[in-house]
Amino acid sequence: MGLLIKRTTAVTLNDQHAVLEDIDIRLDGTRIRELGRNLPAHPGDETIDGSSLVALPAFFNAHCHAPMTFERGWAEDLPLDRWFNERIWVAESALTEEDVYWGAALAACEMIRSGCAGFNDHYFYMDRVAEVVEASGMKATLTWCQFGIGEDKEVGTNLEGALAFASRWRGRANGRIRTVLGPHSPYVCPPAFLKEIAQLAKQHGFGLHIHLAESSQQVVNSLKAHDRTPTELLNDCGVFDVPCVVAHALYLDDRDVEILAKRQVSVAHCPITYMKLAMGVNDLTRLQTAGINIGIGTDGPGSNNDMDMKEAVRITPLLQKFHFNNPEALPGDIPLRLACAGSSRALGFAESGSLEVGKSADIALFDFSGPHLQPCHDLVANLVHVAKGADVRHLIVDGKLIMRDRVILTLDEEKIKSEAGRRAKAMVSKNLRVVREYQG
Ligand SMILES: [Zn+2]
Repeated sequence: MGLLIKRTTAVTLNDQHAVLEDIDIRLDGTRIRELGRNLPAHPGDETIDGSSLVALPAFFNAHCHAPMTFERGWAEDLPLDRWFNERIWVAESALTEEDVYWGAALAACEMIRSGCAGFNDHYFYMDRVAEVVEASGMKATLTWCQFGIGEDKEVGTNLEGALAFASRWRGRANGRIRTVLGPHSPYVCPPAFLKEIAQLAKQHGFGLHIHLAESSQQVVNSLKAHDRTPTELLNDCGVFDVPCVVAHALYLDDRDVEILAKRQVSVAHCPITYMKLAMGVNDLTRLQTAGINIGIGTDGPGSNNDMDMKEAVRITPLLQKFHFNNPEALPGDIPLRLACAGSSRALGFAESGSLEVGKSADIALFDFSGPHLQPCHDLVANLVHVAKGADVRHLIVDGKLIMRDRVILTLDEEKIKSEAGRRAKAMVSKNLRVVREYQG
């Protein structure tokens, strides 16, 4: 029993940049089995009328902290140091496991609604996020964030616990859940800890997911303390000896770029956070030219403030064009490719990212009937610059409909909204305390 999408327009994002019109897509199990005209329905197949829809490979969110929906609107108009020290880490001192579940569930609803099949999550109490992933039908690469500055500074578990989490959930939910290890950053984690966690990752066959070079001050401090840039430090600590995703990487010199390219590190680019916290911009064309894999992420809702991947896809080329005074930067379907193939590869779901026979059946179907999507001189431009997350009508992950006609089939959205709203208010009403300090 499969799914048959009839008479749709498919933006395949294949190597030929093919856009197929009036095409049927047959899904069987977790894969795309056939693309063609007038495909017959097999007995038991569910059919979707795709005639006013555009099929796109579903997005993957390359870096986020999903449960931080609880901190949406809680840390406004602040620079990074005050954002951490006065608001974010303070609120998280009152975080409970149950909060993580409802916060992640709320984020999952938002991501599903904007056509996102999977996300790369870096947070605490990750068993609860894994439960959300399992129930929602989404895919995710999950890590329990570790600071490495003393067990009393960790949230919920120590390194041993983070490793146990990663082992416990590896490959669960029919392979929809992947796990990695997640040291917070080179500016929080001491080098000895970075070496230890990198060694553990290597030994147990896990990748790593870490923040990198978010401010010029972090680079100055690293050079002063370690005589190395943050990128060189991670390289020397063995962090890039396993598949690694670095979030942000805004401040890189030529040698850093060379290291990231050579070690095949993926960069997760989260432009809305950079704009909102005035952190700076990285030159994606420079990274692409060096051959670095780039994915697009929303980052956490404490800094974005939403989880709409479609918006992040639009902002990505706009920021590059504006900042580098170059209207030709990141042209055509590149932003879509970064958010689909680039992100899914970063997460380890490399079989996603294009609509081709044999690929994962992870598909977002956009409703193109709205006035903002007319006329359609350039379908890809309309997808990148006009379509909204809310235009996604159906979302299919691993061959299963998880949203049909804008109704999420796998999660109780009404309950999640009310429970998350109530709990987020209660969390910040508790006795909040300072748990650790950001010092650049
Ligand atoms: Zn982050």
